[in-house]
Amino acid sequence: MASNNELIASRAEAVIPGGLLSPSRRLGSPIAFARADGPYLYDADGTRYTDYHCAFGANVLGHRNPAISRAIARVGESLDLVGAGVLELEVEVAELLVKAIPCADQVAFCSSGSEATYHALRLARAYTGRKQIIKFQGGYHGWHDYVAMNGQSSRQMIDAFDPMSDGILYDAARYTKILPYNDATAVEEYIRANPGEVAAVIIEPIAHNMGAVVAQNQFLRDLRRITSENGVILIFDEVITGFRHALGGYQSIVGITPDLATFGKAATSGYPIGLVAGRRDIMERVGRTGEGAVFMGGTFNGTPSSMAAVKATVQELSKPGVYDRLFDFGSYLRKQIDEIIARHGIRAQTAGFGSVWLVYFFEGEFKEYADLLRNDNELDMRFRRALITGRQIFQPLQLKRLYLSLSHDQTVLDDTLELIDATMADLARS
Ligand code: PMP
Repeated sequence: MASNNELIASRAEAVIPGGLLSPSRRLGSPIAFARADGPYLYDADGTRYTDYHCAFGANVLGHRNPAISRAIARVGESLDLVGAGVLELEVEVAELLVKAIPCADQVAFCSSGSEATYHALRLARAYTGRKQIIKFQGGYHGWHDYVAMNGQSSRQMIDAFDPMSDGILYDAARYTKILPYNDATAVEEYIRANPGEVAAVIIEPIAHNMGAVVAQNQFLRDLRRITSENGVILIFDEVITGFRHALGGYQSIVGITPDLATFGKAATSGYPIGLVAGRRDIMERVGRTGEGAVFMGGTFNGTPSSMAAVKATVQELSKPGVYDRLFDFGSYLRKQIDEIIARHGIRAQTAGFGSVWLVYFFEGEFKEYADLLRNDNELDMRFRRALITGRQIFQPLQLKRLYLSLSHDQTVLDDTLELIDATMADLARS
């Protein structure tokens, strides 16, 4: 007899393209999730899984954190979407964010990370009157035509147009120059060779979309100098790093302030959100009408449930010891896995930052996407599939990051470490 998981999956196949809301949700076998609680997910047959996917990183507090659930229930008693005028709740949230985020004189709200990067790039183009943007190979900034290319391609195609989707308009994408991560000389040379052309440099200050490649501090300092000297807008895409690593984003950790920054994901711990934060003279273009105005519409911008979720998330993340806990558990996990790797003699290493972690299946240093082509993708995939079979949830794709939430405690991690130990032992034997 078919299981509930299989029955739901076959209904999904009939009415949802591919049976999933995106191919990046595929887990290998059909699992229909029915319940989420702290670090755990439960499927329609009642099986429990430990969640290291954490909703693409959005879920930082643990599933159904009571403070978030309460805040959403409470706002629902007095408000739903209005879409006109201003709400005091929007102002309160903006005030909290302006206080927390170094680059934020002002913030604007939208509904996803992709929208935030789209708006930030449009704003940078409008402000500078220039067309070209620079992004880095291996980076991901959303699904739109300005940036959805040369991301998680397994190929070394830095100079080729390598769109992530059919239907992407080359006429839009050709204004995006792809350069290697952590290479300030390449950025400086390109900007110098194309004077007055480059509107913005957009960068994940930790490139979590290729696992966890941390930008060298000197590279970020150089980017800040080069962009300032040449009238280029520096955009930190903090959709993953924001709120997860620090309330004020990675910029507050590294002490380098971009002109604009984009946020999403963990800002609500699981409800739709996108934020653009930045310098007043740039941001105020969004508020103008008439000449010089930058249109940033959106029916659901600032929807009260998401605003209430941001406010409650900020309050929860402001509690003492929260980030220490996320960082300590991340370090603990990486240290234990490195010991397991050494014990079994596997050519691999852990990588990560704070509550983001993964295993790279190669040895030696890495600072850009080209270095990751040394990854043993077959071993990586065998490791991932074994863990997923062991009821751990994350993306079965090589080089993809995993996450922890505040609800992952020592017992949860030790259970997973036992499975990792057994899996690495198997990999070492074969
Ligand atoms: N920027 C970064 C750094 C991301 O990781 C993502 C999503 N993974 C996005 C932007 C796009 O966010 P969303 O999926 O909410 O559109």
